[in-house]
Amino acid sequence: MIVVMKKGASEEQIEHMVDRIEGMGLKAHVLYGTERTVIAAIGEKREAHRLSLESGAGVAEVVPILAPYKVASREVKPEPTVVRAGSLTVGNGHVGVIAGPCSVENEQQILACAEAVKQAGASALRGGAFKPRTSPYSFQGLKHEGLELLATARDATGLSIVTEVLATDDVELVARYADVLQIGARNMQNYRLLEAVGKSGVPVLLKRGPCATMDELLLAAEYVLDGGNPNVMLCERGIRTFESHTRFTLPLATVPYLHSKTHLPVVVDPSHGTGHTYLVPDMAAASIAAGADGLILEVHPEPESALSDGYQSLDFPQFDEMMTKCRRVADALDRQLGSLEQVVGSR
Ligand code: PEP
Ligand code: MN
Repeated sequence: MIVVMKKGASEEQIEHMVDRIEGMGLKAHVLYGTERTVIAAIGEKREAHRLSLESGAGVAEVVPILAPYKVASREVKPEPTVVRAGSLTVGNGHVGVIAGPCSVENEQQILACAEAVKQAGASALRGGAFKPRTSPYSFQGLKHEGLELLATARDATGLSIVTEVLATDDVELVARYADVLQIGARNMQNYRLLEAVGKSGVPVLLKRGPCATMDELLLAAEYVLDGGNPNVMLCERGIRTFESHTRFTLPLATVPYLHSKTHLPVVVDPSHGTGHTYLVPDMAAASIAAGADGLILEVHPEPESALSDGYQSLDFPQFDEMMTKCRRVADALDRQLGSLEQVVGSR
C-alpha cells in the first residue's frame, strides 16, 4: 500500500505513520517527493490495515500498489531517481558514460584506458577484477590486485570505479574499492548477493539476466531497494533469442518501457548487447535516442590482444568518435552526456 500524506504533513505525522505501519508488522519506506511525501507500506495485504491507516493524522489517502515490485515502482515515486557516485551522475537528463576494459589486465592498460576515456568525456571507469567466465579455463580476472589497480586509476584521473562483485563473500572487499557495484547478468537472480549489496549502501548497477523478463529485473532491483539501498541503476545488456548475427539481441524498447514502470535510471550496454565492435557506436547513439540515462561500454587500448571481450571493445579513436556522435544525439534531446565537468573531449 502507499500512504499518501497531505501536502505540508509534518515530520511528526510522518514518523507517527511509520511507527503505525511498523507496528502492523509491515515495512515502511518513506519517499520524500517535491510535491508530497508518500510512505510505502510493504508486506502482506490486509484491508483492515488500509482502513486503519487511512484515519491517521496528515494522511490524504491509502492506495494499493498494483505492480508486483513496490519500492521500484513509479506508483510509489513518480519523479525519476538520479544516482550519483563521485564523478558519475545518471538520470533525469544526465546521461552517464561508464567506459573501460572488460577486464583489468595490468597497470599500464588500466591507466591508459582511464586517461583516454576521461579525455573523451566519460564520467566513470569500468573494469572487471572478478570475472564471470563461461569457461573455467578462461582468464578469471586479477581479483584483489585488479581492485588495487582500479583505485590507482581513480587516483590518477578522478573517475569513479564501476566493477563487478561476483559473490556474497566478496561484497565487503569490493565495496572498499568500488564507487558502483556491478551485478552481472549471470547473478541477477542471486538473491543473497542482492541482499548483501542492498545492505552495503554502495550504488548498484544491476544487469538484466539474458533470459529475465522485465518484471524479474524489477523484482531483483526490489531486493536491493528493500535492503535499504535506494541507488540502483538498471542495465539492459541484451537477451538470448534465436538470432545469431549478434552475441545477444539488444532490445531498446526496454528503455521507454522501464521509464513508464519505474523511477530508477536505465543504462544500456551496447558492447555485450551486440558483441561486435562495429555495431557498438550506432547502438550507443540509438540508446540515447531511446531515452537511456547511461551507457556502459568496453574500451581497450589494443582490442586485438585483450584478455576478454576484445571483439566487442572499442579502441581509443573509436570511443572518441562514438562520444562525438552520441553527444550530437544528446544535445538534440537537451540531455547532458558524460562528464559534468567542462567537456574535455574532441568537440
Ligand atoms: C561485463 O560487463 O564484462 C559482463 C560480464 O557483463 P554481463 O554480466 O552483462 O555479461
Ligand atoms: Mn565483458
